[in-house]
Amino acid sequence: MRTGIFGGTFSPIHNGHIKAAKSFLAEMELDLLYVIPDRIPPHKQISGKDDPFLRLEMVKKAFAGEEKIVVSDTELKREGKSYTVETLPEFMGEGELFMLIGTDMFLTFDKWYRFEDIFKMCTLVLAVREGDASTVRAEIDEKKKLYVEKYGAKVEELASEPFPISSTELRAKIAAGEDCGAYMPRDIIDFIEEKGLYR
Ligand code: ATP
Repeated sequence: MRTGIFGGTFSPIHNGHIKAAKSFLAEMELDLLYVIPDRIPPHKQISGKDDPFLRLEMVKKAFAGEEKIVVSDTELKREGKSYTVETLPEFMGEGELFMLIGTDMFLTFDKWYRFEDIFKMCTLVLAVREGDASTVRAEIDEKKKLYVEKYGAKVEELASEPFPISSTELRAKIAAGEDCGAYMPRDIIDFIEEKGLYR
């Protein structure tokens, strides 16, 4: 059994996440993919108004009807910061683990809490983000080499084209009242409007 893990803040989830998740499932021939919104991201600042349960609801909408994708609330059930090294053991009984990660996170992965233990538990699967292909290719390859040679990491990379958008850009667009139909599913845009998020 091949099991995928895709964690993130998803504030809000967007087509970049959705496309990467679906490519991950197909390219790595996963049997099941767990998408796991964090409660408190260890690596970034989030708004004081953040509601992780609303983020979870958006992620569930984004993957509704996807048979092989399960949205997990396991990090929301834990108090405090959501450390990946504490999440992965919950899935260790489900076969070989693969974890999807964007280039931005990959470059600083050796700053993550107990990253060496994470390397032992899963294969990292890299989704290259916009612009990264040309500007930071050398940096990515250097990090990949370091992680593999020094720490024995297993690293693979998705072949599919990146979808260029970030949650940060979307929060700004929503606050400015712009239509985000090109970047996220319509039912999530409606949900954000209904709940008055990111205003
Ligand atoms: P923010 O702009 O708030 O930092 P984000 O758009 O980077 O958010 P996260 O929730 O932090 O979204 O991302 C979760 C995971 O998805 C990370 O591994 C990140 O690198 C990856 N990711 C985010 N956007 C994309 C994208 N457009 N293409 C591929 N991977 C992405």
